[in-house]
Amino acid sequence: MSERHLDPVLSAGWHALSGDEVGQILQTGPDGLSDDEALRRLGQYGSNRLAPPARRGPLARLLMQFHNILLYVMLGAAIITAALGHWIDTGVLLVAVLINVIIGFIQEGKAETALDAIRAMLSPHATVIRAGHRREIDAAGLVPGDLVFLSSGDRVPADLRLVSVRELRIEEAALTGESLPIEKGTEPVGVDAALGDRYGMAYSGTFVVYGQAMGIVVATGSKTELGRINQMLADIRRMSTPLLRQIDEFGRVLALTIIGLSAATFVLGTLWRDHAPAEMFMMVVALAASAIPEGLPAIMTVTLALGVQRMARRKAIVRHLPAVETLGSVTVICSDKTGTLTCNEMTVQRFVCAGHVFDVGGVGYAPAGDFSIDDRIVEVEHYPALSLAIRAGVLCSDARLREEDGLWRVEGDPTEGALLVAGRKAGFSQHAGDTAWPRTDAIPFESQHRFMATSHLDPDGDPWIFVKGAPERILDMCEFQLNHDGERPLDIDYWRRMATDTAAQGLRLLALACKRSAPVAGPLSFADAEHGYVFLALVGIIDPAREEAIDAVGECHRAGIRVKMITGDHGETARAIGAQLAIGVGKPFITGAEVAVMDDAALRRVAMELDVFARASPEHKLRLVKALQDDGQVVAMTGDGVNDAPALKRADVGVAMGLKGTEAAKEAADMVIADDNFATIATAVREGRAVYDNLKKFILFMLPTNGGEALVVIAAILFELALPLTPAQVLWINMVTSSTLGLALAFEPAEGDVMNRHPRPPGEALLSGFFIWRVLMVSVLMMTGALGLFLWELDMGTSVETARTMAVDAVVMAEMFYLLNSRFIFAPVTNWKGLTSNRHVLLAITACIPLQIAYTHADFMHGIFNSTALTPMEWSKVVAAGLLVFVVAELEKFFIRRSGLAARLSHA
Ligand code: ATP
Repeated sequence: MSERHLDPVLSAGWHALSGDEVGQILQTGPDGLSDDEALRRLGQYGSNRLAPPARRGPLARLLMQFHNILLYVMLGAAIITAALGHWIDTGVLLVAVLINVIIGFIQEGKAETALDAIRAMLSPHATVIRAGHRREIDAAGLVPGDLVFLSSGDRVPADLRLVSVRELRIEEAALTGESLPIEKGTEPVGVDAALGDRYGMAYSGTFVVYGQAMGIVVATGSKTELGRINQMLADIRRMSTPLLRQIDEFGRVLALTIIGLSAATFVLGTLWRDHAPAEMFMMVVALAASAIPEGLPAIMTVTLALGVQRMARRKAIVRHLPAVETLGSVTVICSDKTGTLTCNEMTVQRFVCAGHVFDVGGVGYAPAGDFSIDDRIVEVEHYPALSLAIRAGVLCSDARLREEDGLWRVEGDPTEGALLVAGRKAGFSQHAGDTAWPRTDAIPFESQHRFMATSHLDPDGDPWIFVKGAPERILDMCEFQLNHDGERPLDIDYWRRMATDTAAQGLRLLALACKRSAPVAGPLSFADAEHGYVFLALVGIIDPAREEAIDAVGECHRAGIRVKMITGDHGETARAIGAQLAIGVGKPFITGAEVAVMDDAALRRVAMELDVFARASPEHKLRLVKALQDDGQVVAMTGDGVNDAPALKRADVGVAMGLKGTEAAKEAADMVIADDNFATIATAVREGRAVYDNLKKFILFMLPTNGGEALVVIAAILFELALPLTPAQVLWINMVTSSTLGLALAFEPAEGDVMNRHPRPPGEALLSGFFIWRVLMVSVLMMTGALGLFLWELDMGTSVETARTMAVDAVVMAEMFYLLNSRFIFAPVTNWKGLTSNRHVLLAITACIPLQIAYTHADFMHGIFNSTALTPMEWSKVVAAGLLVFVVAELEKFFIRRSGLAARLSHA
């Protein structure tokens, strides 16, 4: 390509050139670019990516960490302590600030990495023709001159000059703000045409809502119109969820309250109790430092990030983070059938012709198997209707059957693949079909109209049209049927009866028909597909239920979640497959047509009652979601097509399929299931519940540890005791324990009973009832151990330094033990699993022990914190204070479980 073509004027004027001219300029033809040329152009033009929005640099991110109320307080206190000449306290405060900043910085980095990984997993693909072959590539690899296919649901991967279109409609809101889809064509328009009027162009970032097209890439990456306006597409943004925001807000209010209380204490203490201001000041600094849960927001974010990462590893990619929480409240999952609940590995098992039912042997895509009638093998060519039906199935198909290393694979729609395999079994190869019966045009399959049509010329040059589709749809088009002895009027009752029989065995149904058309002039239109067809056969295709989906449905039922199947398939097929999966057993199914005539109130009544929705279209999905939500349900809904987008958006958790889902569905969804498997949705629910549990566990760990320390200090101020913990010591405890120990809970795996509980009521307040009780109880326990030990030791004549050292050690010891308690909210941890199954907890405790030994026994620590060495006897008392918390906390769980309260509190 010469430099001339990079001239911005010309490159902006592609819409004014014809498709052929564009092809010539970009030196590309019907076979697309060669691989070498594509590689060369990739080197020349760079990859087809938009530069991500500028991130804050590491320094800015580090500095941002200082922007935090607690750190302001600590820095203020450091200045005042310095002014008072308490250099050691100043030093400790500054180190504490630094450690907080570094931990915050690292944690934010971890959260960012988690999001980056997820973004990478969602990178879009494009279908191109390169070196004459159709391929799926990463959209980032597109170069100018590439020939790209578009079909409904695709996000246009680069700026394209369209060269052929079939009823192409594109929604260009991302670019022009116009949300109504635009009908596209191939004609050039004037150079000055506005963006929205360039009908021959498809622009990067816009969505194909209907039809198909082929276009030549004219601009990629930042050279596209989207790149020019420098706009990134909707992306996963901040690491936040309603719960996190609630906690953030709670933390802020708590911090402000504590600062207010500290100030009041200071004023009262100096004016009323006549304490020296310097001493009082140190007391209130200790109070503030001990009570404010500074690590809370940061560790909550990490817990969420780790949860999201864990879900991504299990193929559930969360696009919209609040969904992680919503997953735990889901009460109904509405799932597609084909490929999600079933394997999507189709095998034709039966052809039903007029007067004969043929069974087809063999499983999977290997083309080996015989045709038989009542177990008697037959020759296909002796049965003209069967023979023509098989030909119709092979010709009216866009899939390809390939053998690689002895393994047969289908490229394209598995339903069509199954017909190709059946064709091979009968000796019809697709290749022969392509050459002997060349295709002249096609109406591709779309779920909305449920059929596909292709027109061909037979070896004599006579035109034919073949159609295949849902039996009801095809029967509507037919007037005749092909009997053994020729064409006869259609016996519609026979076909309906056979269809119901076949479907009731769980087979997916297709019907095949043909028409010897009048000489075709021009392309196929829907009018050609209206009437006058000859019905050839019904095809029964098996698509077995996924083993893992059977287990997952059972798991969902135990978890109090209803599973509903919403499928485009025949009702009887859906009911039979549903029965294998334990969905809707013993209940009737309802069809989309029946849903369509119901009013909202009637639909609400049946929506919850019935579980199998057949022949359903996307608009029925939307109404169903609304009806279930009106009934108070929290709904997860799966979808793959562009028309599913409204239902996915409306659902509480919209789930798009990663493999067969369109970009439009993924964009609208909260979560993408990378393997299209229903079991992954159940896994996501389990992980979502676990993340929520871990957030709760961390709060239940963090608040009482801060509460305990605060109570120690408050009691000392109230009862005019010697301060059991100095500010420096409080900061030590917080640095060593809360941030390191608590983080271990973010790695806690899901508890065994997490899927035996009922869904959490949405909007349930977290910090209420039981939570407040647990926080208060443990706070008081911690205080009792530490303050009790301190006062007891003072009473026995121990020095205040030693008593303080014991108080500090007692708090840390209690926190270590309580970390073990916190692993399970209600279940006991007094067993091997409870004590050992989270190695991060053990690691955190193991890391804390040497720190605490150093605190107690190292000389330099004595200098900084005024700590003193303890005797074995004193250490045993410290351990006993820790054990007190552990034992009482386990007893409390025991009584809660015994009283049946645990079940109520965890919605079991
Ligand atoms: P689900 O919504 O569970 O994924 P589905 O994939 O079976 O259901 P559709 O793909 O909308 O739903 O198919 C509906 C019906 O259209 C099928 O039952 C079948 O009769 C017919 N059909 C499916 N695929 C094709 C195809 N490629 N060509 C012609 N007809 C088809």
